[in-house]
Amino acid sequence: MHDLPMEITTSNFDVIVMGGGPAGSSVASILAREGRKVVVFEKEKFPRHHIGESLMTDTYFTFERMGILDKLKQSPFVRKYSVQFANPAGKESRPFYFFEANHHESAVTWQVTRAEFDKLLIEHAEEQGATVYQQTLIKQVLFAGERAIGVEAQMADGSRQTFHAKVVIDATGQTAMLSNKFRWRLRDPKLKKAVLYSYFKGAHREPDLNGGATLVLRTELGSNGWFWYIPLENDITSVGIVADPDYLVKGRGQDLAKIFAEEVAKCEPCRRRVEKAERVDKIYSILDYSYRSKHNAGDGFILIGDAYGFLDPIYSSGVLLALKMAELAADAIHEAFANDDFSAIRLGQFQARLDRGIESMRKLVYAFYNEGFSFSRFLQRYPEQRVNLINLLIGNVFQEGVDEIYGPMSEFAEIPSPLYEQIVAQGLSKANGEATEAPEILAAKYLYYDDRAVPSESVNS
Ligand SMILES: Cc1cc2nc3c(=O)[nH]c(=O)nc-3n(C[C@H](O)[C@H](O)[C@H](O)COP(=O)(O)OP(=O)(O)OC[C@H]3O[C@@H](n4cnc5c(N)ncnc54)[C@H](O)[C@@H]3O)c2cc1C
Repeated sequence: MHDLPMEITTSNFDVIVMGGGPAGSSVASILAREGRKVVVFEKEKFPRHHIGESLMTDTYFTFERMGILDKLKQSPFVRKYSVQFANPAGKESRPFYFFEANHHESAVTWQVTRAEFDKLLIEHAEEQGATVYQQTLIKQVLFAGERAIGVEAQMADGSRQTFHAKVVIDATGQTAMLSNKFRWRLRDPKLKKAVLYSYFKGAHREPDLNGGATLVLRTELGSNGWFWYIPLENDITSVGIVADPDYLVKGRGQDLAKIFAEEVAKCEPCRRRVEKAERVDKIYSILDYSYRSKHNAGDGFILIGDAYGFLDPIYSSGVLLALKMAELAADAIHEAFANDDFSAIRLGQFQARLDRGIESMRKLVYAFYNEGFSFSRFLQRYPEQRVNLINLLIGNVFQEGVDEIYGPMSEFAEIPSPLYEQIVAQGLSKANGEATEAPEILAAKYLYYDDRAVPSESVNS
């Protein structure tokens, strides 16, 4: 029995999207523009706070397909031209300008206040023809046998309704509704971090192009940590520390503001940038694990965005990957309709290609956390790798040959094997969901997917 009014109605759509963050709104915009009948369910009322403010430049191409570029160009969001690093001694690298590797207008991207950005995206999806229900919580996905056929939603007025569609897209972010249900979530054994962050008014801004840079400021040696420093509109700067939980929070009490202030004081490039600024928000805290789902689809459903996987935020890759997955899912869905085939294999055909891109970024994440690793030292020995490195920092991870950098880089840092292989090799299946599939079966699956033509060259256009 439900304790809320029960009103069962059935509405039919081509595609149901659960979650209206960047992944959900983007796939809804694309599909609606391209002729599908789409409905989005979002449990919150936008605008709502969310972390994940610094975009990578390759988001441009998905924004173009969504038809939202002009709105972004007219927005007050700060323009981002580069990323810059500082080592634990406070020595700052020269900025990595994206236009050094990319001569297109896509070399400039945005730093976004997510409350406003996500609202822009979900309203855009509605303008493109998607039906959007906010303050509507998906209670469960409905299955006929193993095939997803719809959802049960708790509507804003408290009633429960069912909706049916050929495809259900899970874009519920870290809730990861379906990969949790099937116990597909694989945690990265080495990437477990604690995060504290807040917002400052009046913090230091460099002049001109550098004013919009993302800064990655390493904290003291042994902490394995770093601060992000992300300039937003209205003179607000997002400042956050990411570090090993044992270092950052264990045994340091409940006073997060005190811990945060202590860490700022210890990080000279951060300290001097915020010393005259006023903190204008609370301290937010997150325990974050990097993870990926073992599968990206089942019969009648697809997982995209953080609902499929989340990678440590060091290079700001989350929204980019969410948008790329939105495009790949849209292409797979069009093909499924064209063939009247909504099987897991058809819908999930892009997983191998997607995983290769995520793995490219994951290798760079591991390099960063390697004690003593420094991009400056690496580039001193291999200056010809600067453009490859910038390509990765742009998010150009799906390009052939982008992995060439990891040969030379392996002289400086441990470069990991793919997550699934690493987990199977380490026998961590119990702690990591059900990683029981043998590696050779996985390899066969990859080969199978590799043989299939991807319908549109939407990734890395
Ligand atoms: C500390 C930190 C820093 C980060 N920094 C960056 C950065 O600088 N740049 C970057 O690109 N990325 C960053 N990320 C990653 C980024 O936040 C995510 O990758 C991105 O938000 C993923 O988008 P999404 O649409 O998949 O999920 P989300 O943005 O989380 O959206 C999911 C939506 O689903 C809704 N939902 C959940 N369950 C239900 C349900 N049952 N019914 C209905 N709705 C539901 C939620 O309310 C939410 O709005 C960071 C992440 C962390 C943790």
